[in-house]
Amino acid sequence: MPRKPLIAANWKMYKTPVQAQEFTKNFLPLVANHERDEIVLCPSFTSLSVVIAAATGSGVAVGAQNMYSADEGAFTGETSPVMLKAIGVTHAILGHSERRQYFAETDETINKKLKAALQHGLAPIVCVGEVLAEREAGKTNEVLLRQTRGVLAGIEATQAAPIVIAYEPVWAIGTGRTATPQIASEAHGVIRGEVAKLLGGTVAESMRILYGGSVKPENASALMTEEEIDGALVGGASLDPQSFGKIVNY
Ligand code: PEP
Repeated sequence: MPRKPLIAANWKMYKTPVQAQEFTKNFLPLVANHERDEIVLCPSFTSLSVVIAAATGSGVAVGAQNMYSADEGAFTGETSPVMLKAIGVTHAILGHSERRQYFAETDETINKKLKAALQHGLAPIVCVGEVLAEREAGKTNEVLLRQTRGVLAGIEATQAAPIVIAYEPVWAIGTGRTATPQIASEAHGVIRGEVAKLLGGTVAESMRILYGGSVKPENASALMTEEEIDGALVGGASLDPQSFGKIVNY
């Protein structure tokens, strides 16, 4: 079974609800009847509902950029998978490098979130990737293996189908510096090999591994036509409907 590519927009902490609605209105006609890829918009929490309302019936899905691992409780400021599911969210980005860097997320906390997402029927888009110093020290593979094992710890092969991994080399995020298709492919191969060891060859073959890191309309085609690359997680270039539309329609 060929892997259906997934292209997700990570808007980070940008756009008010009105701006998010405006984006969606302008973006949807650009991808009407687009069947080749699964498309997911990930606005901030305050815009989830308006984007879900605007995208209903379009085939475009809506994801959260984070979530907490508990169903409910005294966790001020957090949002649970139950709450996300209740408003029509279908995906959740977990363990983005900005969350690891600024909010002290670890493989262990990300693993808890991933299990909670699966339990509640949300598709996790779980991020892994090395920082520049690790790449320069020749530690990329070591980091990818550690993170892949950490975020997937305790997951059974039978639960794994919804999981999407995003390889996001941290040195390429928001820097304008993109991994070459070869660098990305190599990293994806390392991740897929580890998934095969952990969950078996069939799961590894069907798991989608996205690339993220300064994907733009100009480099989308070269990246996405690589056999090992099953789509993209797009930050900056997803904020403009025309630009994200061009990436989806590469
Ligand atoms: C991201 O936020 O996941 C990302 C890859 O950002 P950018 O495309 O801006 O590098």
